[in-house]
Amino acid sequence: MARSYVHEARRGLGLGRRRERIGPIIDRLAAEHSDAEIALRFRSDLELLVSVMLSAQTTDVNVNKVTPALFEKYRRPADYLAVPVEELQRDIYATGFFRQKTKAIRGTMQMLIEEFDGEVPRRLEDLVRLPGVARKTANVVAAELGHAQGIVVDTHVRRLSQRLALTRNDDPVRIERDLQRVVPRADWARFPHLLIWHGRRVCHARRPLCEACVIEDLCPSSRLRSSVASGRARAGRASTRG
Ligand code: SF4
Repeated sequence: MARSYVHEARRGLGLGRRRERIGPIIDRLAAEHSDAEIALRFRSDLELLVSVMLSAQTTDVNVNKVTPALFEKYRRPADYLAVPVEELQRDIYATGFFRQKTKAIRGTMQMLIEEFDGEVPRRLEDLVRLPGVARKTANVVAAELGHAQGIVVDTHVRRLSQRLALTRNDDPVRIERDLQRVVPRADWARFPHLLIWHGRRVCHARRPLCEACVIEDLCPSSRLRSSVASGRARAGRASTRG
């Protein structure tokens, strides 16, 4: 189980309820990270789907190194089925877990051809039926296609949602449900990008840069507030003893 950050959010700090904080949180993060968008490079729905499938257990940078040549060679779903399995394995080898990914991609291409006229479906319930496409992958694809039907929860979204006290859950499905209750539907696609980029640039897992954070005053996990509070507590104890 990944580390939980739920305990870092202190209660009773008078920061306002989740629904009151979410608007300014989104507005400020959007202004701060105006370039926040998916880092994968793709030119079509099919390339998007394959890129997201390849990004499991590796970095987007790594995927972007492999896909230019891959997408020149494989342009339609049938192309992924027309080569020997070993050839596709070699072509995606650098993204890791190449055997599982090859199996998932070929299974998905087969289903696209048989059930969806070779097109990438828009509906989440269709996307999650594709072999090797879990809910997170389906959410990413649906959101990028302009049909967000859920909220992507990755490691950054999980950590920041917990620190911002938008959830008290650890399980991604429950976190997504909590976020869906508080994040306006119109923001479901961009909200994860904002948290992901804020997580990469400012709210790091080990050493969050709270002093440089544009939502510090809205965050119950701010290290600044805890150091002020503990300073006051120390001063209070000292004066009591004195
Ligand atoms: S950087 Fe600090 S203040 Fe900002 S969201 Fe993270 S924990 Fe909260």
